[in-house]
Amino acid sequence: MAKRDYYEILGVQKDVDAAELKKAYRRVAMKFHPDRNPDDPKAEEKFKEANEAYEVLSDENKRAAYDRFGHAGVDGQAGMGGGAGGAGFGNFSDIFGDVFGDIFGGGRGGRGGPSRGSDLRYNLELSLEDAVKGTSVQIKVPTLVSCKTCDGSGAKPGSKPVTCTTCGGHGQVRMQQGFFSVQQTCPSCRGRGTIISDPCKSCNGQGRTEETKTLQVKVPAGVDTGDRIRLSGEGEAGADGGPSGDLYVQVHVREHNIFKRDGADLYCEVPIDFVDAALGGELEVPTLDGRVKLKVPAETQTGKLFKLRGKGVTPVRGGGVGDLLCRVVVETPVNLTSKQKELLKEFQATMKGGKYSPKQSSWFDGVKKFFNE
Ligand SMILES: [Zn+2]
Ligand SMILES: [Zn+2]
Repeated sequence: MAKRDYYEILGVQKDVDAAELKKAYRRVAMKFHPDRNPDDPKAEEKFKEANEAYEVLSDENKRAAYDRFGHAGVDGQAGMGGGAGGAGFGNFSDIFGDVFGDIFGGGRGGRGGPSRGSDLRYNLELSLEDAVKGTSVQIKVPTLVSCKTCDGSGAKPGSKPVTCTTCGGHGQVRMQQGFFSVQQTCPSCRGRGTIISDPCKSCNGQGRTEETKTLQVKVPAGVDTGDRIRLSGEGEAGADGGPSGDLYVQVHVREHNIFKRDGADLYCEVPIDFVDAALGGELEVPTLDGRVKLKVPAETQTGKLFKLRGKGVTPVRGGGVGDLLCRVVVETPVNLTSKQKELLKEFQATMKGGKYSPKQSSWFDGVKKFFNE
């Protein structure tokens, strides 16, 4: 296979300076880095190509030789030419630590050892009552678990993964490349340090199998939509016996047909007939703990809020129990008999003059003024 031009591989001009060259190499290497393109041999090939190109072009002597004689001038020197079992993807942290550290650092176990399993997310729908009072629910989560047959090792029971002979179990090898000695992930075992010669049949040597896990989740009292409950170690099992990820249970509280929640407070609407509203009375209002009596004073207008202290929610993060706010809505009577209608007409006749409906009279006055101006 004809080799591509090194400058072309990195997408740079022939007169590129060292800083630009390094930048270009970072760009290409980032794009095709095996960590970002798992199981893509093409990307791995391109990553190796870029490594090789940069190794030559970043070295003054090699670059001069390459510029004069082409690939013939540097092949053999670089030792990466054939690629046959040669250069794997190196640990270039010495050059790229700053950049790769941001993206691949942290949670990953790195190439040198077993990696941690993925975190999982489970959407849990709860009724308002359950969210406020707390509950315990059983959930079923499809996940990857450590294979029971081989205990996660990937090796057939009775056999064991054997120490990799290429790296002696270190997972890293030192390779002499021209003047360089480069530490690389062992190409034989891919950094594991061991090789499975007799893979487990249940998991095909992966050490993990798919399974639906049943879990009992304790939901603490006071959770609300958007809260997450972390179940440590209940995520996917890690590869090669690595630690499991976590399971995040994401809480969604269903809409309630009586109560609305706002933080620690609950709201509800309470219809009231116009006689009770006028004369005052005692209403029965719902709370999450059952019904309670609410005294409504005479001349209560629609929309008035009554506060029932301490009948709200105790938020899961603390901050004290909230209140229940009842908004009364005066209801217009319907389905009146002719007798009732008569009584109302009679009643209405006694209502002349502004003093019985102050709001209405002042409103009419306002309208009158508006049209006269
Ligand atoms: Zn297995
Ligand atoms: Zn090895």
